[in-house]
Amino acid sequence: MVIIILGAQGTGKGTVAGIISENTKLLQLSTGDIFRKNIKEQTPLGIEANKYIANGNLVPDDITVPMVVSYLDSEMAKNGVILDGFPRSLAQAEKLDEILEKRGKKVDLVVNLTTPRDEIIDRILTRRVCSNQQCRATYNLKMHPPIKEGICDKCGANLIQREDDSSKEAIQKRLEIYDNQTAPLVEYYRKKGILRTEEVSVRINRLGKQVAFDIIKDIENK
Ligand code: ADP
Ligand code: ZN
Repeated sequence: MVIIILGAQGTGKGTVAGIISENTKLLQLSTGDIFRKNIKEQTPLGIEANKYIANGNLVPDDITVPMVVSYLDSEMAKNGVILDGFPRSLAQAEKLDEILEKRGKKVDLVVNLTTPRDEIIDRILTRRVCSNQQCRATYNLKMHPPIKEGICDKCGANLIQREDDSSKEAIQKRLEIYDNQTAPLVEYYRKKGILRTEEVSVRINRLGKQVAFDIIKDIENK
């Protein structure tokens, strides 16, 4: 099974994908997390990718696509994957279809997370992530703070703020790229009849956790 979690920055893609992955056999494949791990370890891939990420730009497809393929073809993905952060453009979506088709697979479900823009910016600024690359849990200082300030509930490592989350300008730039390059994917998958839209917002008291458990229920019934 191949599931894509779509949505702007800060809508909770990582949180939703993480909960689904923990409760199913699906591998969470987050391109942002893989890039950050490589940057931390200063691998050649990380050094190259960081030239783009540090400025809030997308990493070119000739780096991103082969990286995704290597995970899709790995043993860890044998029961299926949840893609979080990929595809991010029509070119990537078409490439993914091609790759899956060659392997006799297809995208089964696309979950589109939507959140009002003003809530998004506030959420990104108050987002904190676990510094332990094996854990990568995400918190929000307002919505779901850790039990002990600055410490990850799951593994005890320090919580940090992502570099690209600390300035309003960097956030705005990523949202612009989302609007221009990623948002058209909503139509692309709607036309295929596999799109499911979920509003995630404190205003209607519907958070990522709830969405994730609803999706898990549906997966189990399939
Ligand atoms: P966010 O969704 O908050 O921008 P991510 O963790 O998904 O954060 O990604 C961080 C950065 O990694 C992006 O700003 C971009 O530079 C790069 N990146 C992640 N996924 C992709 C992708 N599919 N294609 C190109 N670049 C990507
Ligand atoms: Zn942790």
